[in-house]
Amino acid sequence: MSREDSEMTFSVIVPCYNEEAVIAETHKRLTEVMGRLGETYEIIYVNDGSSDGTAAILRELSERDPHAKALMFARNCGHQIAVTAGLDHVSGRAVIIIDADLQDPPEVIPEMAEKWRSGAQVVYGQRRQRQGESFFKKTTASLFYKTLARLTNGMVPRDTGDFRLVDRQVVDAIRSMPEHDRFLRGMFAWVGFRQEAVLYDRDKRFAGETHYPLKKMLQLAGNGIFSFSVKPLRFATLLGMLWTGLGILGLLILLVLTLCGKSFAAWYLASFGALLAGNILLCLGIAGEYLARIYNEARNRPLYLIAETAGFQCENKDD
Ligand code: UDP
Ligand code: MG
Repeated sequence: MSREDSEMTFSVIVPCYNEEAVIAETHKRLTEVMGRLGETYEIIYVNDGSSDGTAAILRELSERDPHAKALMFARNCGHQIAVTAGLDHVSGRAVIIIDADLQDPPEVIPEMAEKWRSGAQVVYGQRRQRQGESFFKKTTASLFYKTLARLTNGMVPRDTGDFRLVDRQVVDAIRSMPEHDRFLRGMFAWVGFRQEAVLYDRDKRFAGETHYPLKKMLQLAGNGIFSFSVKPLRFATLLGMLWTGLGILGLLILLVLTLCGKSFAAWYLASFGALLAGNILLCLGIAGEYLARIYNEARNRPLYLIAETAGFQCENKDD
């Protein structure tokens, strides 16, 4: 069945990493909401290399419910890649991306669908409030969105996650962007089309705990910044100019001190030297971030490997 002839109206993508404690409840709530919409739908769960019982639960779900399908990764590839795999396998005319842990309430979907029916092509959820998240997470998230907005000239709307409904035309546009270091909410903003927001309150996690430790959060933030802006490189140039100015000033001070017969020279030299080395390494690091991304693209490895699928009518539909 080609994607174009598809009768399917909605496809829901749910990335899952060690979510055995929540999937049953998530499926129940999603099924209730999708059923109420009265259109054909599929729910594609992407098992991102979970080490708990997630795979078994998804296999069982896709046997029991013809709406449920599952893609099982060969290993953990990260949330953004899991959503990407989902996008590669949807057949609906509109696609909903939602977290497995019920932090994004499925009950918001009908409002998104309504906006889609009246012409919006990307309906993104914008968080009004975040419940049950630490002060640290809220503060760093707010700082990150401010920085990102500044670096991308306000392209990425604030306080949006990946929870959204997207028209198939936009999904196809995203599928034509095979970049490796992915920051999907930035990519969705970059493609344009008719975008509208739906405000919602982000709930607490239903069960289990976050799989976004600081390291993964920093990685995502890095992709947001370095994959969407070259301003950090310009910052390196500015820093270089600033240091050249400071260096000239330092030399003048040294000259004056030497002429006056004072011998502060070593102290000034040492502190200037240390600061300068720090700045050079910082700039090298910034350039390295871009270099690493070029390296990832040049290697061109597949974004993910699927070990098993369940519930798809014609398996290996990409073949
Ligand atoms: N997730 C994933 N792969 C990962 C980490 C997370 O597929 O490596 C999924 C996870 O199962 C959930 C969503 O991404 O559906 C968001 O993750 P989480 O709730 O842990 O992050 P938080 O909401 O705390 O930022
Ligand atoms: Mg969560």
